[in-house]
Amino acid sequence: MTIAQNLKAVRERIAAAARRAGRSPDDIALMAVTKTFGPDDIRAAYDAGQRLFGENRVQEFAGKFQAVRDLTDAGFHMIGHLQTNKAAKAVEVFSAVDSVDSVRLAEKLNAAAATTRKRLPILIELNLGGEESKTGVNPVSQEFGALLEAAARLDHLEFRGLMTIPPLTGDPQAARPYFRRLREIRDRIAARNLPSIRLATLSTGMSHDFEVAIEEGSTCVRLGTAIFGERPRKA
Ligand SMILES: *Cc1c(COP(=O)(O)O)cnc(C)c1O
Repeated sequence: MTIAQNLKAVRERIAAAARRAGRSPDDIALMAVTKTFGPDDIRAAYDAGQRLFGENRVQEFAGKFQAVRDLTDAGFHMIGHLQTNKAAKAVEVFSAVDSVDSVRLAEKLNAAAATTRKRLPILIELNLGGEESKTGVNPVSQEFGALLEAAARLDHLEFRGLMTIPPLTGDPQAARPYFRRLREIRDRIAARNLPSIRLATLSTGMSHDFEVAIEEGSTCVRLGTAIFGERPRKA
């Protein structure tokens, strides 16, 4: 199967899952996750109509950036853990950061975006499984409250929603409560009606569980393996 064929197949599965859930397929964005894959694969996806891309490492994407920067109508989002000392570089190469998980990082991104005079779209990443190994902010922590407040206050950030990666199990149904919880947290924040917060995006669901994520309200599924095939194992 080619990248174009895989994209077509996943778009059909996204549309079918949306219809099953009584949702419009247009309300669900498909992000192609290109970590470990090269510029040629990004371009192949682009040529097949894909415009939204995700990468999880600043250094890795910085190396591909020159080769894809002519794709000016494509969006490249940072979706992995971002260290504060790489915030400026991230703002330089990415069009959005979907993995903001601390006030300190939000402030660094805001300062970097201010120098470019652009507003950087961000998502706050939540750690819903309480896993030590995962990044993301705990939704019942003070840090989350402070981060919401910072996201609303910092002028060069445009706070668009929430992102999460549920604990990984073999069973997509096991992720369902986490997808649901993400939506409930979004709805609770939206109900507060803060004028500076219009969060709509729920970025969740990966190759093995995106259909369940769509049933539970995801507005952006992030797919790597289902589009590009298995990633080479890390050395
Ligand atoms: C790698 C990655 C994905 C895609 O994972 P697949 O299982 O290959 O679809 C999605 N989100 C994040 C944050 C990732 O790092």
